[in-house]
Amino acid sequence: MGEQGLFGEFGGSYVPEDLGKVLGVLAEEFEQAVKDPVFIDEFKQVLADCVGRENPLTFAKNLSEQQQGAKIYLKREDLNHTGAHKINNAIGQILLAKRMGAKRVIAETGAGQHGVATATACAMFGMDCTIYMGKHDMKRQALNVFRMELLGAKVESVAAGQGRLKDAVDAALADLVENYQNTFYLLGSAVGPHPFPTMVKFFQSVISEESKRQIIDKEGKLPAAVVACAGGGSNAIGAFAHFIDEENVRLIGVEPAEAPSLTEGVPAVIHGFKCLTLLDDDGNPKPTFSIAAGLDYPGIGPEHSYLKETGRAEYVTITGEEALAAFKLLSETEGIIPALESAHAVAYAMKLAKDLRASDSIIVNLSGRGDKDVQQVFEMEHEANIQEV
Ligand SMILES: *Cc1c(COP(=O)(O)O)cnc(C)c1O
Repeated sequence: MGEQGLFGEFGGSYVPEDLGKVLGVLAEEFEQAVKDPVFIDEFKQVLADCVGRENPLTFAKNLSEQQQGAKIYLKREDLNHTGAHKINNAIGQILLAKRMGAKRVIAETGAGQHGVATATACAMFGMDCTIYMGKHDMKRQALNVFRMELLGAKVESVAAGQGRLKDAVDAALADLVENYQNTFYLLGSAVGPHPFPTMVKFFQSVISEESKRQIIDKEGKLPAAVVACAGGGSNAIGAFAHFIDEENVRLIGVEPAEAPSLTEGVPAVIHGFKCLTLLDDDGNPKPTFSIAAGLDYPGIGPEHSYLKETGRAEYVTITGEEALAAFKLLSETEGIIPALESAHAVAYAMKLAKDLRASDSIIVNLSGRGDKDVQQVFEMEHEANIQEV
């Protein structure tokens, strides 16, 4: 167990020795890279030229008026190239891979969003790309498999176990141990063994670096709260990062009521790190089901586990039904169709706005756009209509 990457009792690196060595080298390379202004400049330049940063902080005027409370602002990660925050991290890690001389990138994906972001970054930088995906998930997310293939990636079906995300992670780690000399493992959220949570936070912190400046420009003061949805916790930790030291800013992570890792989880080691997690009666990670595929993860990043235990951040739940109502409301009132994941944050912000003063503001991290979810919502509505008849 490494001493580094600990957030209180959480985080760390609970992995076999050979993998531990590979991750140790990665941690050192990352530390060097972030101290190198050339690396940081390139990261910022690619984000500007190819991702479209900085993205706006939009005042949701109609929604705020309807709620009659604090002003709701939306940090527009939905406007990034590929439609979500995941590309920030994919770009950061691919630049690190390039710097380390890797020729080949591998990644795991569950719903396919991280696979698409990784395949995109690999296409941009001419890297060979292999995405591991559970057999079961590949069937559910056939369109994302096709998207990754269009982007030039090889999608490896993982039949082991239940053919889900966890099995894809195991396959990717096995590949890394075997091929570490030319291969970089590009992990998709602020989870996993050290240095991944620290690294992913660093690359996603660009969100709050911008939003802090933007809210001060617009409001002349800090927001009362920052609200973000939390699956593995990468968009939330990025949205919180530059506000963590601002004690008067409330930090609120929103989990799906169907997968409440922080609200109901217990400390345990999963996927090589310690966090608050949902376990079944046998002590295994509990299968979860959220209408938002990106929030369907039984654990949560170690830093969120720590922020929860120390009380610096608050974590709340929103049901699928509430998220769906917010998905529709934001579409109607603001002309913005949010990702179902982000709709969880919007739903909570609407409740919160009513309890705050009109002079307060709330930043909601709109982690992604809802185009990917329109078909699913259409099908859910269609089924509901059939049942009513
Ligand atoms: C993947 C995803 C999430 C959840 O992942 P985090 O690591 O918790 O940010 C949230 N929103 C969108 C749009 C996603 O694609």
